[in-house]
Amino acid sequence: MTFDNLGLSGALLRAVADQGYTTPTPIQMQAIPAVLAGGDLLAGAQTGTGKTAGFVLPMLQRLSTTASAHGNGGRRPLRALILTPTRELAAQVDASVKAYGRHLKLASFALFGGVGFAPQVAQLHRGVDILVATPGRLLDHHARRNVDFSAVDIFVLDEADRMLDMGFIADIKRVLSLLPRKRQNLLFSATFPDEIRALAEKLLDHPRTIQATPRNSTVETIAQRVHPVNRHEKAQLLAHLIGKNRWQQVLVFTRTKHGADKLVRSLEADGIRAVALHGNKSQNVRTRALADFKRSAIDVMVATDIAARGIDIDQLPHVVNYDLPNVPEDYVHRIGRTGRAGATGEAISLVCVDERGFLQDIERLIKRPIVREVVPGFEPDPHAVAQPVFANRNRGRDQTPKHTHSPAVPRGQHRAAQGGARREPAHPRHTVSSAVHNREGTPSRHHSQARSGNVASSATARQSRRRSSTPSGNRVRVTEP
Ligand code: AMP
Repeated sequence: MTFDNLGLSGALLRAVADQGYTTPTPIQMQAIPAVLAGGDLLAGAQTGTGKTAGFVLPMLQRLSTTASAHGNGGRRPLRALILTPTRELAAQVDASVKAYGRHLKLASFALFGGVGFAPQVAQLHRGVDILVATPGRLLDHHARRNVDFSAVDIFVLDEADRMLDMGFIADIKRVLSLLPRKRQNLLFSATFPDEIRALAEKLLDHPRTIQATPRNSTVETIAQRVHPVNRHEKAQLLAHLIGKNRWQQVLVFTRTKHGADKLVRSLEADGIRAVALHGNKSQNVRTRALADFKRSAIDVMVATDIAARGIDIDQLPHVVNYDLPNVPEDYVHRIGRTGRAGATGEAISLVCVDERGFLQDIERLIKRPIVREVVPGFEPDPHAVAQPVFANRNRGRDQTPKHTHSPAVPRGQHRAAQGGARREPAHPRHTVSSAVHNREGTPSRHHSQARSGNVASSATARQSRRRSSTPSGNRVRVTEP
């Protein structure tokens, strides 16, 4: 199978060849004809499967072969809107749009928070055909009348599961309410929890359903391994593995920003070039860190789940779970960073006694056991007692999850979370935050406020927004951007 058989125009085939792609990936084989046909699409695809080209190529073809029915005061009408959960992913998808559309005359733009408004306003006023946006900043611009949705023909929700995990559901619904009724909708998600199914039912009209990889399975080419280790020896073990195996381009996941910074300091003390990537860093610092990592000027990038979401690096050889995620689907996302587009990769998890329950949850999800391998010199204490992974500070009553979903959380912690008996956290560095983070550094928009166009918000309004966007009853991610 080549790209020639998929119905793409010469301009797009040239762009694909420019990228060096010869064979479409499974998701591309299915998604490209489906999107070209014009109907809605529900696609199950992990990151690294080539899903971006799967929707961008046919979208470009449709936009370049049909004229917009709408004028817009002389400026280009916005005809395609792609929502992504993170600014990194927005930038990355926009780069793909530009690369695949290089022989076409379509303008695209990535719109995300954390950077100045003025250049974005100027670009929006000049007009773009395709906007790749994170929800918060998009709604800000809409409230300021900088963006007009009336000509949107194609709407894409990329990494929908992550968007919901991030507490973006209110923002997504708000955006949907602003779009024209008649449009093509494409929903991409790596996993299909019930919330995604519910959203898909509302959003999509008789969609084609395609699945690039079996549901919730981990990519076959990834070698997965667990190294049991004492909780306070993880940093030394990681340094040992990197040094001994001469690893380069290692992506390491920690649960918290603070944990990421602390680990970077520890690795640097061991002479390992490392950098942390998380939401506290400015966009410039994040972009530079990513570039340094890509050109191997640094060996290790330490990231939280949320910050890592948009990272796209081909054939990343090593992914390390320094902390196991409490949401098992995150494990699938994390290790999807390695073995991309068919390349082999290695996913290592450093697991201490506190995280055994998380490991069980993950193995249940991926439906296979992960090999345990004790590293000589780092044997875990067989008598170690599990301690709570999360502290209960920072958790307001409104943010208390209905179920904390973790056999790894000892009973005392549940009591603490419910306002009962209080215990001192075993790991004071671990703080709890709920799924209501907005990765752009601002809380989610509240409907009435966005409608009124009042962007500057009071502390009270902000508080109420936080409450309103807490997905009650949903599983709560305990991590930080
Ligand atoms: P994605 O899943 O969209 O993030 O894509 C993962 C990576 O695969 C990106 O770096 C793409 O450039 C690359 N890629 C996408 N399609 C192909 C293809 N048909 N052949 C080889 N690499 C591809």
